Amino acid sequence: MGKLIAGNWKMFKGPTETLEFFDGFEAPEGVEVVLCPPFVSLEAAVGEEWPIYAQNVHWATDGAFTGEISAAMLVELGVQGTLVGHSERRLYFGESDETVRLRAEAALAAGLGVIACVGETEAEREAGDTDAVLRRQVAVLPQHEQLVIAYEPVWAIGTGKTATPELAQEAHALIKSLHDTRVLYGGSVKPENAAELLTQPDVDGALVGGASLDAASFSSLCQIAASLS
Ligand code: PEP
Repeated sequence: MGKLIAGNWKMFKGPTETLEFFDGFEAPEGVEVVLCPPFVSLEAAVGEEWPIYAQNVHWATDGAFTGEISAAMLVELGVQGTLVGHSERRLYFGESDETVRLRAEAALAAGLGVIACVGETEAEREAGDTDAVLRRQVAVLPQHEQLVIAYEPVWAIGTGKTATPELAQEAHALIKSLHDTRVLYGGSVKPENAAELLTQPDVDGALVGGASLDAASFSSLCQIAASLS
């Protein structure tokens, strides 16, 4: 199976910029590509040829949950999956292991794919708690063929700091010993460091933030990934 490269656009790109991105983006055979635009750009993006995931989903089918989006609504739009548990959701929006579990279960039950994010903060790593944090976060995730885990050390997201390939490999091996799934690495992945990370034996792909915003840079990342498969 080829590497899976997922682009998380966070709160960047409305529908117009989304279409501009796709005009300039290309990926070769041999790599699986997923893009995660903001909610308002999903409709523009699903018209393109790549699988489109949301960045979040609510667990209820419908109800009085102002500002939330259900899995069924995403399915109706043609969206194929969703991220859950991104560290920015955990940090700024009160996401807990329990709500990550609820979101993942609801998405899978609706037929969506899931990329579930886990990872330790800098303080947790320095305190020697990385293993315990990963064990706790992974324990709530359902075993399902449509669920992929992204290991994203929080201290490496959007900071330009990347985990060394050895450190990433160590965390991926732990996660795979706990959960039978593909594991993506995320944290300042860019064309310059992609190959050394993606060639680690337990790194099955990447979840990419900043470097997925530029069509040329994301195209070259996908090219690198394809050349390794
Ligand atoms: C992310 O948003 O999941 C991410 C890994 O961001 P960046 O690549 O910018 O560190």
